[in-house]
Amino acid sequence: MRPARALIDLQALRHNYQLARELSGAKALAVIKADAYGHGALRCAQALEGEADGFAVACIEEALQLRAAGIKAPVLLLEGFFEAGELALIAEQDLWCVVHSLWQLEAIEQATLTRPITVWLKLDSGMHRVGLHPKDYQGAYQRLLASGKVTRIVLMSHFARADELDSPASNAQVAVFDAARQGLSAEISLRNSPAVLGWPQVPSDWVRPGIMLYGATPFEVAQAQAQRLQPVMTLESRVISVRELPAGEPVGYGATFVSPRPTRVGVVAMGYADGYPRLAPTGTPVLVAGKRSQLIGRVSMDMLCIDLTDVPEAGLGSPVELWGKHVLASDVAIQAGTIPYQIFCNLRRVPLVYSGG
Ligand SMILES: *Cc1c(COP(=O)(O)O)cnc(C)c1O
Repeated sequence: MRPARALIDLQALRHNYQLARELSGAKALAVIKADAYGHGALRCAQALEGEADGFAVACIEEALQLRAAGIKAPVLLLEGFFEAGELALIAEQDLWCVVHSLWQLEAIEQATLTRPITVWLKLDSGMHRVGLHPKDYQGAYQRLLASGKVTRIVLMSHFARADELDSPASNAQVAVFDAARQGLSAEISLRNSPAVLGWPQVPSDWVRPGIMLYGATPFEVAQAQAQRLQPVMTLESRVISVRELPAGEPVGYGATFVSPRPTRVGVVAMGYADGYPRLAPTGTPVLVAGKRSQLIGRVSMDMLCIDLTDVPEAGLGSPVELWGKHVLASDVAIQAGTIPYQIFCNLRRVPLVYSGG
């Protein structure tokens, strides 16, 4: 059997969830959209169900999978509905629903619902992606109340730059949010992972941690609270072939790496078809036989090469950690010019193996 697999440590997931709660002192919706950032939404939801205040997903398709598997906790649809026809099911399945646009507000007013729903009313406080314009916010709130279709409204917005700890942009967004909600007494929700970790002064009744649950830092720089996270996923495989090259020999497609010295090359069963980033360059860290080494040459579809020259104890069959508790996914992501969010979401073909459930 091919040795590539992703180990998922559900105990670490629970630790990270508790950390989000502890740091925020708020209720926390565990964000498990996109199959829990590649970690398996259902297993993650089951591991958290006893303690989580609720879950957040991108769309009703993701929510229905959770409900079908018996998840009873609140589930928020972060983009609400995409067409009005989803509203009946949202009410029936007791899902919480973001309203980010006036067309959604109108659809709720016109809908016939079996019971009233919980709405998270989203303000565009400066990201300019989705969310109501500040001038429409209070009116939308009043119309939702008047519609008779809504039992509860939570006021929310989303940060564009909370991962930039020295940027004034997040405080500016909070000011816009506070002005827009003036006089409304409703629960509020602003903070995603970088804001939970790095912006303790931002008030919240509800936080929405995603990437931090999986133990990866959203910051490009070291940050004290992020250091308390425990990586959940270990992407691992084994060395399937070893060769000794003299100096001056190319390795892999395009000969982008040429051995500068006599080099011992290990071939690992892991490639971009598994979701390992093809753009990870020579020098990207890996762990082999418990020691740090590095990628050499181009990543291919099913294999990649690593340098074993300074790890003489490593050989055929040696275990390799591509990312996990020793090689941080965020470090691999930076090398590959991306973010840990994307390298997790790109994961495929490798079996997910759970522990700590
Ligand atoms: C994805 C998402 C989150 C979680 O973001 P992280 O940076 O992963 O914590 C929170 N809120 C909204 C609206 C989202 O879309």
